[in-house]
Order: sequence, then structure tokens, then C-alpha cells
Amino acid sequence: MSASDELLRANSEYAKRFDLGDLPRPPAKKLAIVTCMDARIFPSRAFGLKAGDAHIIRNAGGRARDALRSLIISERLQGTTEIAVIHHTDCGLLTINNRDFQARLKEELGADAGDIDFLPFTDVEESVREDIAFLITCPLIPAHVTVRGFVYDVRTGRL
Ligand code: ZN
Repeated sequence: MSASDELLRANSEYAKRFDLGDLPRPPAKKLAIVTCMDARIFPSRAFGLKAGDAHIIRNAGGRARDALRSLIISERLQGTTEIAVIHHTDCGLLTINNRDFQARLKEELGADAGDIDFLPFTDVEESVREDIAFLITCPLIPAHVTVRGFVYDVRTGRL
């Protein structure tokens, strides 16, 4: 059984007991979280969130630039007033740089990724600061939106 078959099986059990069909679309906490896709981060448990509480936007590294489209929609259409950027220790993006990774893709796939910035970083606290600076200076994110940043430790589960 493939992982997606397991997913289907688990969902049919979930749907039998499902009682969240009446939740409103806007997030109850008016919060958007930008965090890494890293499978070790389990946001609902780690950050005490229930269904309907927050937008959780995930990508490689939890980079704000990559999440901008979703953040604009979150704020303008769904009333989000607070953004939390959460990067983490031992992130995969600490292990690559654009030039080498682009060369690797060229070699392995014969494809040109020269125009893709994979947004790697060498210091996780610095990448959080960079993303906060990006968001607070971004004209598409209004000044009244609170932007905070955190580092999640994958060893201890602590922010
Ligand atoms: Zn990561």
C-alpha cells in the first residue's frame, strides 16, 4: 500500500467522525504562520492550534518571500492581523546553496533551474530576521499587521 493509499484509508475513518463542516473560512485567531515543510514540525500540536484557528503556510525553509502570495490573500481576504515566521534548527535549506543546487539539477535532470532562487540560508536566526524585514517593508503587507519571528528546535520541540 502506498502512502497515498494509507492517506485515503485514514481519511475515510476521519470523515466518519467529522464534525467541523460549519467552521467559518477566516482563521479565528486572525493569525498566519509561515513555517517549513519539514515533516518533524507538527504545527497544530506544537503551537496549540485547532481546526479553523490559523492559516499555516508551509514551504521549504518557511521563507516569507515564497509565501507572499498566500500572505496577501490571508490578510486582504481573510482578515489576518498577525504573522508568525517560524524557521527551525537542522533545516534542509542550511545544507544547500543556489549555485551548487542549480548545477546538481542540471546534471541530474538536464533541466535549467538557473532562474529559481531556492532561498537557502546559513544561519537560522538570520533567515528569520531577513524574512521579518522583508514582510515589514513589503508594501503589500500593511503596517498594522504584527510580524514576529521564531526558531523552532526540532530536538526539544521548543520555540
Ligand atoms: Zn526546514
